[in-house]
Order: sequence, then structure tokens, then C-alpha cells
Amino acid sequence: MRNSPSPQQRQQIEARANGVCEYCKSPVRYAVQSFECDHIIPLALDGTTELDNLAFACGGCNRYKSAKVVGIDPDSRQPVPFFHPRQQIWDDHFIWNDTYAIIIGITATGRATVNALQLNRLGVVNLRRMLIMANEHP
Ligand SMILES: [Zn+2]
Repeated sequence: MRNSPSPQQRQQIEARANGVCEYCKSPVRYAVQSFECDHIIPLALDGTTELDNLAFACGGCNRYKSAKVVGIDPDSRQPVPFFHPRQQIWDDHFIWNDTYAIIIGITATGRATVNALQLNRLGVVNLRRMLIMANEHP
């Protein structure tokens, strides 16, 4: 079984995501580090290298997610599954704050994903502020 997506899969995954990280929404065209194809269910947990298990993810989100699929909801302190970009809709789990610089989790899954993947990392928040000024924010 292949562990990494084919070049065609990579193109499909990037196009499907409209060129933004499917977790933190950072655009690849302003990324200083390469984006990766996240195995939503990690290979270590028998996830496959198929399009329905792959997400376009910035290096930061992919690294923080690592081989995990579950995080702690800070409100209930219970473990919950991370946001699943193929089976769930981003807007159902996250909203932007009123300046559009910060992502707020609005469900247990959303909150656990914001925390574990650090979707409001300083560099990403600063990038959003710049992109807002440039009218390039997603
Ligand atoms: Zn990201």
C-alpha cells in the first residue's frame, strides 16, 4: 500500500481545497513552508492513501495533528474526534471572530481541533491580519 499520495492525487487534493489548509484556512500561495497531504485517519491507525482520507494541510496543522484523531474539548474535558474535512463542514464547527483573525470552535470537535492543532498560532494569526489588509483573507 502506498503511504504518500501520487502527484495526481496531490493536485486533486489542492484543487479540492481551493488552495487553503482545510484546518486553519491558510492559503498555500502565501505559505513559507510546503503544504502536505494529511492522512485524516493516520496510516498508523489503518487509514488509507485514498482521496476520501486525505486533506490539504499546512505544515503547522499537519505537524500538530500528527498521528492523532482525538483531542480534548476544553469545555467538557472529554476526548472528542478532530474535525474531519471529508465528512464534516468547516462552518458547522468553526467561526471567525469579529476581526476574522481568530478561529473559534463552536462544537466540541471544533474546540478540540482549535486547541490541538493550534489553529490560532501567532504566525498564522499575523498572516491573517496581513491578508485581511490585502483583501486576500479566505
Ligand atoms: Zn493549517
